[in-house]
This record gives sequence, C-alpha cells and structure tokens, in this order.
Amino acid sequence: MPGTGNQPDSTTWWKSRADRMVETQIVSRGVRDPDVIRVMKNTPRHKFIPAHLRDHAYNDHPLPIGSGQTISQPYIVALMTEYLELTGTEKVLEIGTGSGYQAAVLAPLVDTCYSIEVVKALAREAAGKLDMLGYDNVVVKWGDGYLGWPEHAPFDRIIITAAPEKIPEKLVEQLAVGGRMVLPVGSHFQELILITKTNKGIHRKNIIPVRFVPMVHPSDPIPDK
Ligand code: SAH
Repeated sequence: MPGTGNQPDSTTWWKSRADRMVETQIVSRGVRDPDVIRVMKNTPRHKFIPAHLRDHAYNDHPLPIGSGQTISQPYIVALMTEYLELTGTEKVLEIGTGSGYQAAVLAPLVDTCYSIEVVKALAREAAGKLDMLGYDNVVVKWGDGYLGWPEHAPFDRIIITAAPEKIPEKLVEQLAVGGRMVLPVGSHFQELILITKTNKGIHRKNIIPVRFVPMVHPSDPIPDK
C-alpha cells in the first residue's frame, strides 16, 4: 500500500533481537523458568532506554538511563526475576524503578507490582511510560525505598535493584512470612542474595557477585504524599 508498504514494521523489528537476547544471554547461562523466558522475549526493552541507545537495547550489558542511573544487564533482570519464584498471585515491592523495565518484566508475572524510585524525574518518567504501554498493575511512587511502603505491606516478594550496604531492616519487616526477597548487598564488592522468611526467622543464600548502583539515602526528605 503506498505510504505504508515501505515502512519498517515498528511493532516487530525488535522481536528477533529480544528472542536472540534471551537464547544467547539468558537461557545459555542457565535461566530455566518458562514464564521468565516468555516475558523477557515479549518485553520491549528498547522502549525503556534513551532513543540514541536503542540499537544497544538487546545487548549483553547495562545501559545508562539518565540521572546517573543504569538499566541492569538483561541476564541479571532475568536471574533476579527467576529467584523470586513467581506464580502470578504475588504482591511485589520493587525498590529502584529506574527506567521501569524490571517492573514491566514483573507485571505479567504478578498480581501487583509496587515500585519506589528516589529520583523524582525517573519516577515520573517510568510511571508515564508504564502507563502508556498499558502496564496497569504497576504502581510507581517517588520516595525513599529504605522506608518501604507500609500501607501495602506485607509483600509476598521484594526485589531491590540498587545495592544497600546492609540488608535494609524495614524491608525485611515488610516481607510476608513465606516470602522471598532478592537484592544486591555491599559497597565495592557486592553479592546478589536471596532472603527467605519463615516463622522461624530469615535465611540468606548468596547467588553471584554483581555490580549495581548504590542504594542511596536521600539528602532531602521526600514528602510522603
Ligand atoms: N530496576 C531499574 C534499574 C534501576 S537502577 C530498571 O529496570 O531500569 C537503580 C535505581 O535505584 C536508580 O534509578 C536509583 O535512583 C534508585 N535508587 C537508589 N537508591 C534508592 C532509594 N533509597 N529508594 C528508591 N530508589 C533508589
């Protein structure tokens, strides 16, 4: 059809890249959960990064997203999601919304994703993007992740995508008994860890060494509402 026939197919050009990303970076490194694999293939990662970097969207590394922050390497997003062991019914808390990509990966796998971002501009941009793309079970708020989101606690799962130096106490408190929490901990040397909570207490398991941006303490108080 004149006028449209020569246009690149804007809805599918990225699909083959996403499929290849999943096979060569994620399945090849041992991620097995079929739901995680499906969602990683179907999430348009290029929509969450600055336009001039879109060609790199499906490559094997983190990318800058503005405000000095980064969107994690695809493999790490998949690995953390797999460790959450989601069944579709969970209320999840994410700390560090960033671009909104990790929240978009979680959305089809959970009941609701609550996500907190400390940089106001990022929180606003991610919320707008997720809304525009139709992710209607993700709620983003600008705030300090160290405080969690008591109004919605307890959470079945918690995922932290910035690295605190120590495991944040308040977040462990807001994790439901039977819940799982995945986070990087440390300063220079960081370890990705899994915390499981039972009625006997918490259990920590080390997963792999990682490198995330630090989870910061906001210098100015953020208004609660
Ligand atoms: N999940 C993101 C990656 C985020 S990078 C994505 O998929 O794009 C880490 C994010 O954590 C940054 O945006 C940073 O601003 C945010 N962050 C750092 N400290 C925080 C805190 N105390 N509370 C909430 N977010 C924080």
